[in-house]
Amino acid sequence: MTKKIHILATGGTIAGQANTHGGYTAGKLNVETLLDALPWRPHDVQVSYEQVANVGSQSIHNEIWYQLANRVNTLSLEKLADGIVITHGTDTMEETAYFLNLVTPGKIPVVLTGAMRPANAFSPDGPENLLAAINVACSGQAKNLGVLVVMNSIIHSARYIQKMGVSQDNAFQSIPLGPVGIQSGTNTHFFVNQLAAIHTNNSEFTKAIENGSLTFSNEFKLPNVNVLYVHAGMDESYLRQWLQLSHEGIVVAGVGAGNLSQTLERLLANQVFQGVAVVRSTRIAAGNIARNMEIDDDRHGFLVAGNLTPAKARILLQLALAVKMPMPQMQTVYDTH
Ligand code: GLU
Repeated sequence: MTKKIHILATGGTIAGQANTHGGYTAGKLNVETLLDALPWRPHDVQVSYEQVANVGSQSIHNEIWYQLANRVNTLSLEKLADGIVITHGTDTMEETAYFLNLVTPGKIPVVLTGAMRPANAFSPDGPENLLAAINVACSGQAKNLGVLVVMNSIIHSARYIQKMGVSQDNAFQSIPLGPVGIQSGTNTHFFVNQLAAIHTNNSEFTKAIENGSLTFSNEFKLPNVNVLYVHAGMDESYLRQWLQLSHEGIVVAGVGAGNLSQTLERLLANQVFQGVAVVRSTRIAAGNIARNMEIDDDRHGFLVAGNLTPAKARILLQLALAVKMPMPQMQTVYDTH
């Protein structure tokens, strides 16, 4: 039976054009041009598409996320497609993927892809990645694993993927699990059939969308959550000024096991006292933050991010604040999503 795959294009290097000085501009070509560059189309696949945005993913913003979430929800729930492919810049691909992993129903596969080299490079990787993503989106099994990312023939879960290299083809890794599958020619192989982390239809936020308590309408604004990157020798007066800015939540990318200087620990405990949600994460890529190790999280009222990266921990906190989740439940959500 012919599968219907819908592409939502947002730009990125896959739609980028190299210049003559060795640089390039992301988000130049439209989705039709990307499809025209495919060496062949998978048999029995009918592809439709729309251009949601055309930007480098460093410029992806909340409104693009709302638009993507709303389109994925409509296409999935109204059964308008058998699978969805999202083309995206690689810099923030893992953030968009994780956001969608938390707010879409997972009834059909949703697969992000991009490229490390622009479309007019000597040997672009975009066409192969797009073809691989279309193939994965055709696979019924893909919908059990939440939102997926396909790069360089490797299939990653949105929950675990991280961009670990700036320019090499194998820039993406899934930490700590490893990838969930591989795309080999037209064959899709999955190594696992479920994830430990909650996603899509079981996510607290997809349920909130279903029951109407979370809606990405034009008036909606995700709460203001900011990330503080920790390093040795932080200046106390800088920290005090930073904390005076408006924050509904703070994710702190601590050192080691999410550690903070005594000064920062005290300042952040004071933020919790003032009603700001504070989450400890780590600046280390392969980190897992447990509660109450060197820092007394129970006493200060801190949340801990487990093995979520600071950027993903920020998204989870924004959504938890958006649905006005009570503090004790927030830690449970970090432990499970
Ligand atoms: N900054 C670009 C982007 O994220 C380059 C990364 C890429 O797409 O490979 O869109």
